[in-house]
Amino acid sequence: MPLSLSVMGHNVQMRELAGIRRRWEEAGSPPCEHTDRAREYHLGSHTGDTACLNCGKSFSPAQEAALLAKGK
Ligand SMILES: [Zn+2]
Repeated sequence: MPLSLSVMGHNVQMRELAGIRRRWEEAGSPPCEHTDRAREYHLGSHTGDTACLNCGKSFSPAQEAALLAKGK
């Protein structure tokens, strides 16, 4: 059974996010609650950001903290 990096340890690669964003835009960019977020990685390095696995949007640590404060 193939395991993607985003499933293992709840990380996501920037390369994967580009594909997620493209699919989201092709779907008409519907509103997203960004409730399913993972740490954003570039190859082996954490970028410091998090990203939504649903729409592919990236969040800075400050934006992530604001989402958490809203209970998301
Ligand atoms: Zn989202």
